[in-house]
Amino acid sequence: MQIPKLAVIIPCYNEELCVESTCKRLLEVLDMLISKNKISKDSYLYFVDDGSSDKTWEIIENLHNGTSRVKAVKFIRNYGNQKALIAGLEGVRNIGCDCAVSIDADLQQDELAIERFLDEYQKGFDIVLGVRNNRKTDSIFKKTTAVLFYKLMNILGAKIPMNHSDYRLVSKRALDIMEMYHEKALFLRGFFHEVGLRSTTVNFDVKPRFAGQSKFNFFSLMGLALNGITSFSIYPLRIVSCLGFLMALFAFLVGLETVFEKIMFNNSPNGTATMIILLCFFGGLQIFCLGIIGEYIGQVYREVKARPRYITEKELR
Ligand code: UDP
Ligand code: MG
Repeated sequence: MQIPKLAVIIPCYNEELCVESTCKRLLEVLDMLISKNKISKDSYLYFVDDGSSDKTWEIIENLHNGTSRVKAVKFIRNYGNQKALIAGLEGVRNIGCDCAVSIDADLQQDELAIERFLDEYQKGFDIVLGVRNNRKTDSIFKKTTAVLFYKLMNILGAKIPMNHSDYRLVSKRALDIMEMYHEKALFLRGFFHEVGLRSTTVNFDVKPRFAGQSKFNFFSLMGLALNGITSFSIYPLRIVSCLGFLMALFAFLVGLETVFEKIMFNNSPNGTATMIILLCFFGGLQIFCLGIIGEYIGQVYREVKARPRYITEKELR
């Protein structure tokens, strides 16, 4: 059995309150895994500073000066957690590793589960997804929207495992395949599922955030969900086409019925209220459908411009 070199990726955005203790804790975990011969001695941490405006980067620099096992990259501005994760995966691929784990800077995810991730990796799995046991630490709003999101994604054909937040292990092979995907707004959870490598799940407990605040709000979660859906499913477009067809059919049948009544019973339909309701309903439906198509056009627009995914300011190797 070959001992793998592990890289742990930690995206950070304004995490000055967490980053130092998180680093200390993760180095302890690395030491524990090294002592058990589960990872090689040159395994390391890779922080991605997602354009923090607080002292996060200075703290990371100090940590790097203390030990070369702490490596890092800094974005020129805030690009969001998905881009930070992608940069982390690309960064560790360039530096070199056999497998990489991504974990949040607030260590809400149980860091000891990494050991079980590695056991699955040794069994030959290229992707090990961390799946949370509970959502006790989430607000009711986040719980409901998360469940809705997973359900919707699955109905829409973009199969992603329920309750998997970006805590996962991926092999070097998966990292190499990721390099072949050039889409700018890569949605990682969908991507690792789509690739079709051997994958499995490991359950872990979620802890409350030990310092600082959640960096996600309603709009960023909504953006993530829309990107996830439009990147990995065209079902909404099909649904729109079907809806259009059904509406036309409905109108045709109502028309037939009207003509029939006129001929047979000389009845002309009378109903301003019905007209207004139908008009508003179909008007609303059309705008909604246009909105869905608009989301896809937006996705095409972003991809076609082919802007870089992110721009880095500094890297500490
Ligand atoms: N994060 C990031 N960029 C952002 C927002 C968040 O890199 O624009 C990082 C953040 O520092 C943390 C992880 O993503 O390491 C998860 O964020 P957070 O804990 O705020 O999310 P929650 O646990 O509330 O879903
Ligand atoms: Mg968190």
